[in-house]
Amino acid sequence: MNDMTDKKTSPPKVSIVKCDGYSNDKAYESIKASLDLIGGMESFVSKDERILLKPNLLTAKSADRAVTTHPTIVHAVVRLVREAGAVPIVGDSPGIGSAVKVAEACGIMDVVKELDVEFVELGTPVLIDAVKGSAFKHFEVAKEALDVDGIINLPKLKTHGQMYMTMGVKNIFGCVPGKKKLQWHLTAGVDAPHFARMILDLYKTIAPRLNIIDAILSMEGNGPGSGDPRQTNFIAASNDAIALDTILAKVVGADIAQIPVLNEAAKDNLPSTDLEEIKLFGEEVAAVAVDDFKFPPLIHTNFASYLPNFLDKRIRKALSARPKISVKDCSLCTLCARSCPPDIIKVGKKVEIDYDNCIRCYCCQEICPKGAITIKEGWLKKLLPGF
Ligand code: SF4
Ligand code: SF4
Repeated sequence: MNDMTDKKTSPPKVSIVKCDGYSNDKAYESIKASLDLIGGMESFVSKDERILLKPNLLTAKSADRAVTTHPTIVHAVVRLVREAGAVPIVGDSPGIGSAVKVAEACGIMDVVKELDVEFVELGTPVLIDAVKGSAFKHFEVAKEALDVDGIINLPKLKTHGQMYMTMGVKNIFGCVPGKKKLQWHLTAGVDAPHFARMILDLYKTIAPRLNIIDAILSMEGNGPGSGDPRQTNFIAASNDAIALDTILAKVVGADIAQIPVLNEAAKDNLPSTDLEEIKLFGEEVAAVAVDDFKFPPLIHTNFASYLPNFLDKRIRKALSARPKISVKDCSLCTLCARSCPPDIIKVGKKVEIDYDNCIRCYCCQEICPKGAITIKEGWLKKLLPGF
């Protein structure tokens, strides 16, 4: 497990360095520069430590689709970890399918082979105690993520149907083995803040030492699996993913109130949610700010979960955004049905969703390889636009 002694006492630091494209040299120089601004790789890893590099390996897509962390980022961080004398290992756990297949599709497996790095599937669940102060007592996480001395989190900057944005904190959910993720969705049900609280507490429990986000080619729109790549041209690094996400939200012009994970973090009064308290190095936010970044079709994630409890469950769902299938784009591959936590999607001649029992987790939208699922406003919300 991580030794977080230093990190707990360190103020939140974020560095931003411009980078206008992917090559091994560009990624290496930009990441090295971003780390040098916050103490260098040597301040995060020590000689002979085994360090897990945890990219975003959501689904098997080529790197130019911006679904996964780019292989040149992994290439650069492997080199930097080795130069600091530590031993890098690469691994993740997609919601469906194997990490190996996703790594092959996006090119990370080529890096693993070229640099002769160990690759692990984060697939063996073990129960651990949640960090003190957590709303949850235990988490089931991958043993492979615990059998290391520390974790370097390598997220991708993307939009996210349910969580609005996926950045540093959300990427740590990948340490929960494959199908166990679906159980968390079932537990959280229609309650996005509850789900966000779980992700935040999980992040604090796993406590990666360092977070480096691939924001060279990001994703906007119908993310995290089927959005549009958007050139944003920078790398950002931080000892604190909450601080990192806070700065990134500002860069893309996101309303922090729409990001459930940051909303929950703000309730904890952490300095990492306060722009005044975060030490920013390198570029100013304005120098990399993205105009007109496109957020998920319906921004509020489970708007209805903010409603009072006395409202009937059906009314809450009628107000919530829901997944909608585009018949013309659907290939009837059944992946959505296999990823649906309450198992309420049927695929026959077309895809049918039992909306009464849909928990609005948007796992189906996240996983659909054809971008055939978008999130649409609930029917009652349309009738009550100001509600
Ligand atoms: S995952 Fe997408 S393409 Fe596959 S069956 Fe579901 S809607 Fe259709
Ligand atoms: S239909 Fe989609 S949004 Fe609804 S519960 Fe299933 S996976 Fe979640």
